[in-house]
Amino acid sequence: MSGVRVRFAPSPTGPLHIGGARSALFNWLFARKNGGTFILRIEDTDLERSSRESEENILRALRWLGLDWDEGVDVGGPHGPYRQTERLEIYRRYAAQLEQAGLAYPCYCTEEELAREREEFLSRGEMPRYGGRCRRLSPEERRRLEEEGRRPALRFAVTPGETILVRDLVRGPVPFDSTGIGDFIIMKSDGIPTYNFAVVVDDYLMGVTHVIRAEEHLSNTPRQVLLYRALGWPVPEFAHISLILGEDRAKMSKRHGATSIDQYREMGYLPEAVVNFLALLGWSPGGEQEIFTVEELVREFSLERVSKSPAVFDLNKLNWLNAHYIRHSPLERVTELALPFLQRAGLVAGEVTPEQFRWLVRLMGVVREYLTTLAEAVEHARVFFAAEVEPEDEEAREVLAWEEAGRVLAVLAEKVKGAESLDDEAAVAAVLKKLPKEAGLAPRRAYLPVRVALTGRTQGPELHLVISLLGKEKVISRLQRALAWREGHAKAN
Ligand code: GLU
Repeated sequence: MSGVRVRFAPSPTGPLHIGGARSALFNWLFARKNGGTFILRIEDTDLERSSRESEENILRALRWLGLDWDEGVDVGGPHGPYRQTERLEIYRRYAAQLEQAGLAYPCYCTEEELAREREEFLSRGEMPRYGGRCRRLSPEERRRLEEEGRRPALRFAVTPGETILVRDLVRGPVPFDSTGIGDFIIMKSDGIPTYNFAVVVDDYLMGVTHVIRAEEHLSNTPRQVLLYRALGWPVPEFAHISLILGEDRAKMSKRHGATSIDQYREMGYLPEAVVNFLALLGWSPGGEQEIFTVEELVREFSLERVSKSPAVFDLNKLNWLNAHYIRHSPLERVTELALPFLQRAGLVAGEVTPEQFRWLVRLMGVVREYLTTLAEAVEHARVFFAAEVEPEDEEAREVLAWEEAGRVLAVLAEKVKGAESLDDEAAVAAVLKKLPKEAGLAPRRAYLPVRVALTGRTQGPELHLVISLLGKEKVISRLQRALAWREGHAKAN
């Protein structure tokens, strides 16, 4: 393994979203490309909003995408624990170190006092920040406040008037003025670290060399740089990847449709399509190529080619990629992924025997070219499961009622009865080829009634595939039923 160490550090406050998945993917690609280590750390210090359920959702979604981690929750590693609430002692130790060095101080201000100060800054048209009141407390004043029962938070003391330069691999050097930052809290009064503090301690202790994350954290980075310096630690490389916008150019949100990876799985997107799509959200290899296998992504990925400008979420492109992968991924795999949809629709029940699975593979081979999502397989597959079919519309009824159609249905029924099985598609195709002549009909006049009799529709996959898939029993019963339908129809008219 090379020295490259990166991490994905989600807060488990909801399911894994498109944006988080994209951050995870870029980190994973960067690690794999450089023979580095990919770490999964759970940042669950927001006790109210974090849940194990969300954490499990995130892990499941990452696994579904095929993003494996070398160190982190679940798999462990030499720098654990990898869940921040299990590292509280570590943060307290470094907080105490900063306090002893005079770089951080206890702050006794109440919520109300802080809110009032905020208002004052805003009314003067200034950026709200902490004014530094508790920084100036004498030891006696502190003692008095402690005696009142106030529990202090710990604030990091920021020297105003300094320029902090964040070097970003995507954005170049970004200067920040320390005056606008103000002294910020690193440990809350309940002994829980804030994000900016925990992230620095962890990234350092876990040996993270490159911090690749969403652009929204760029404004946090100067605080983190100050903490690295105060603790005497080297600052890692940063790469902030741009926002994802909806097609209306507003920040991607629920209003734009599905936002969680779960939802895309449930709608019938393939993980390889989602990964390919996410990779192109903010990264481009420079050429015209849009279809990338994971291996190609690993080979081609580089932070230099991550764009500064926002990425736009284009659902049509995702659909196009998904249709591509449904057609081109190994058929057995597509079948496995489609199976839960067929099961949920009640088409397939219980355990699937190897023989059934082989049949399902053939079925998916026939229908997959019509699909944008796996969920759509249900509608296309239904006709192969149904006990019986009816002509589905006026056009289909007309075809089935054609005067000479009975002949072709009867001829075919006889042939099928005489056949051992219909498994051999080529043999079925050969029988069909001779059918018009034997029934004394033009090809279209012969094939269309057969199609309607077998599927209820005037359009669909190639007839020899349909017949072979349906199998002898269903073909005979549907042909006979169609013949009976014709008799009823003739009487009625
Ligand atoms: N827990 C933060 C988040 O989910 C991680 C930010 C970071 O990568 O530093 O946004």
